[in-house]
Amino acid sequence: MDAIDIATNEQERELSRALTYRKPEPPKQSTGRCWNCKEPVEQGRRWCDKRCMTEWEQLHDRNR
Ligand SMILES: [Zn+2]
Repeated sequence: MDAIDIATNEQERELSRALTYRKPEPPKQSTGRCWNCKEPVEQGRRWCDKRCMTEWEQLHDRNR
């Protein structure tokens, strides 16, 4: 197996992972505010609750 084969395998693995995981990509880090309603949230959190997370995901689904 040469370097090109290895690279191709990596890309295929990356692609199949992307196809399996169809949810919109969530924000990478917390800003201290809910990504959906912009209300202040606890450190390390991105949404105030499950409902906001779902709403945010649906919003991004529609834009695709
Ligand atoms: Zn919220």
